[in-house]
Amino acid sequence: MSRSAHPAGPRHADVLPEGHYSAPPADLNVLDPKVWARTVARDADGVATVGGVDVKTLAEQHGTPAYFLDEADFRSRARAWRDAFGSDADVFYAGKAFLSRAVVRWLHEEGLHLDVCSGGELATALSAGMPADRIAFHGNNKSTQEIRRAVEAGVGRIVLDSFQEIVRVAHVAQELGRRQRVQIRVTVGVEAHTHEFIATAHEDQKFGVPLAGGQAAEAVRRALRLDGLELIGIHSHIGSQIFDMSGFEVAAHRVVGLLRDIRDEHGVELPEIDLGGGLGIAYTSGDDPREPHEIAKALTEIVTRECEAAKLRTPRISVEPGRAIVGPTAFTLYEVGTIKPLDNLRTYVSVDGGMSDNIRTALYDAEYSVALVSRTSDAGPMLARVVGKHCESGDIVVKDAFLPADLAPGDLIAVPATGAYCRSMASNYNHVPRPPVVAVQDGASRVIVRRETEEDLLRLDVG
Ligand SMILES: *Cc1c(COP(=O)(O)O)cnc(C)c1O
Repeated sequence: MSRSAHPAGPRHADVLPEGHYSAPPADLNVLDPKVWARTVARDADGVATVGGVDVKTLAEQHGTPAYFLDEADFRSRARAWRDAFGSDADVFYAGKAFLSRAVVRWLHEEGLHLDVCSGGELATALSAGMPADRIAFHGNNKSTQEIRRAVEAGVGRIVLDSFQEIVRVAHVAQELGRRQRVQIRVTVGVEAHTHEFIATAHEDQKFGVPLAGGQAAEAVRRALRLDGLELIGIHSHIGSQIFDMSGFEVAAHRVVGLLRDIRDEHGVELPEIDLGGGLGIAYTSGDDPREPHEIAKALTEIVTRECEAAKLRTPRISVEPGRAIVGPTAFTLYEVGTIKPLDNLRTYVSVDGGMSDNIRTALYDAEYSVALVSRTSDAGPMLARVVGKHCESGDIVVKDAFLPADLAPGDLIAVPATGAYCRSMASNYNHVPRPPVVAVQDGASRVIVRRETEEDLLRLDVG
């Protein structure tokens, strides 16, 4: 953070308050391609466009707030992941990041697989035609009913998360006369976040069976004994928004260690290893994510090296990126409402959405960028906090960002990189209907999840 930055805006004093910002960017009108979807640009009038459609037109047609998703960008990122791993590995898109039937169809067309973690996600995937054998079913507390639906549908794998679930899935499969392909999710004692990882006590969480103390080995023993199960591999997911590959190195080392122990004890070499998702994206200009081909190369090399050392055949690798595919492809468009300048502090800019369409800032102090998109401006930068319309002072969308000092009610501003974990975590807090998701491509926009209405809200309220 820079304290020498002097925003030129009239609303500010000489010294900036504490915050998570650096100096204002040289030109507030530039839309950094790092954080914006690939087709985003400004037209001759300075209005931002996506997929060839300008945001003023999009706001007129679809209202605000709304999520606009760059379909070409989504498809190209999905393809980049699939191509990077090639035919020797499988890429499972993590549906919890954002799932809709259109997205399921795109993924299927681009040759990806799909992770789901609830009956609702499974229903969405199946209703959009994702072949069941390309679906993996996750979750730490799947209900018997969900397990039954998944086995009946013929999902490609169920990722077992606990000792109880080993028995439960085996039982359901046997009842249905099936042999269900399963993986066991293990916790390897590594937790990775953003720029660091911690390789100590991170068995202390709800997901997975700890490697430590021989628990994972015992889970494998039990799964191998049950007729209803076909154990195909071991699964590990170490965290989210990861930039550094060292956490994956430790995880792969430990998972391969388990595969070696399994071979030594049972004489079987499990054919698959799943390294989970969690690869980071750029939310601000300071973030530098790796390209899928670099990640694929690094992960493949790590697993191959570990397997050679353990004298194991290299198993088929799968990965589960969610955020890294959908995150960068969408932005949220808001209309500016009230503006409250506070001398010597910052300017509060209220928008027509908030924590109901993006809970991540309130939930885990996530950082975002923001830009004025309905016009350009020559005014200097003002330090702003973008807040929502909810009755909650923690209702912050962008904690610290610079916007032009002449920002006015009615301007459109947009927050990039909101494709993942925004619509999928949206709520109806304050009975605010959830915004639509609109796909934009080749000069045309198409609603893929419509805006909720007050009728939708009232329909559930049966009095
Ligand atoms: C959340 C999750 C993912 C996806 O994480 P991203 O950070 O969106 O890539 C993948 N696998 C599992 C098991 C998860 O829980």
